[in-house]
Amino acid sequence: MKLSNILLVSFFLSLFGGMAQESNDVSVTKALELMGSRFEITVVAPNEDIGYINIDEAVSEIKRIEKMISSWDENSETSLINRNAGIKPVKVSKELFSLIDRAVRVSEITDGAFDITYASADKIWRFDGSMSRMPSHDEITQSVTKIGYDRIKLDNENQTVFLTQVGMKIGFGAIGKGYAADKAKELLVSKQVKAGIINASGDLTTWGTKADGGNWMVGISNPLDKSKVFSWLPVVESSVATSGNYEKYVVFQGKKYSHIIDPRTGYPTSGVNSVSIFAKKVELCDALATAVFVMGRDTGLHMINQLDGVEAVVVDSENKIHKSSGVVFEQNQ
Ligand code: ADP
Ligand code: MG
Repeated sequence: MKLSNILLVSFFLSLFGGMAQESNDVSVTKALELMGSRFEITVVAPNEDIGYINIDEAVSEIKRIEKMISSWDENSETSLINRNAGIKPVKVSKELFSLIDRAVRVSEITDGAFDITYASADKIWRFDGSMSRMPSHDEITQSVTKIGYDRIKLDNENQTVFLTQVGMKIGFGAIGKGYAADKAKELLVSKQVKAGIINASGDLTTWGTKADGGNWMVGISNPLDKSKVFSWLPVVESSVATSGNYEKYVVFQGKKYSHIIDPRTGYPTSGVNSVSIFAKKVELCDALATAVFVMGRDTGLHMINQLDGVEAVVVDSENKIHKSSGVVFEQNQ
């Protein structure tokens, strides 16, 4: 499929476009492994040394968040909540409480397609090539019985979180990278870093403009060939996150099953190759990208069209592009 389309996202063409930076600013980029993902941090700074100091500050912030939300670190607040599932409510920091509260809201608006208690599922699907047969329907149904965001009890007053059933778990695999990127940006903005981009494996957020005054651009890549870009989009003072099935999937009898599981059924989703979500905060983009993947093209786009300030581009399993109502394609011919 040859695409020479230009994507125009009208709501991005806001006041911010084309603000000029001072000419001697430099752009500094560093890539590193954080939260089990590849992060790439770019800042616009008066000189390289200051740029690298700023990047180190962002890295510390991301590590701080990882410590809070990691399911691997048994000392994290998240592990404490999980260990006490079915036992007792756990008092947590305001920050984690709010993150969980927002995650539950995303579950509500997506009718459970996004659910941080997905972590309670029995790991019957593996996407590392080690699966030799499709699990049975019973195994699949059984694997999701502990999932249910409505069984997370949040007590605002006491700032406690209670997973009401034994064996329940929460995990931030589908929202944590986005949250960390938002917080890293917030920290740098508070330190007067005038522009940058925090890119957590394709889930990214930007502020300001490039050192040369141009907009930050993001490519929507062809799910069948990641080196090919369908279209470039300006991302101005906002964020984008992409979930794609080109990375992790299994094939049974010619059908591709993606690594994103419908928490309501236990079955991996199919029919969608990739979902990109555009919104102010990358946390929301990250969570909604997963949700739209689960909901499928039509239901997913219908939901996005009802949300203010959120847009989506969905590439279906035939590699056809579908978009929410605020995204305008223009034929570049
Ligand atoms: P990626 O951006 O790598 O495609 P996502 O941000 O969509 O990944 O998150 C995928 C991770 O989220 C999975 O590895 C799993 O831990 C978790 N996850 C999978 N399905 C769901 C779901 N429906 N709701 C919440 N978390 C999920
Ligand atoms: Mg996600």
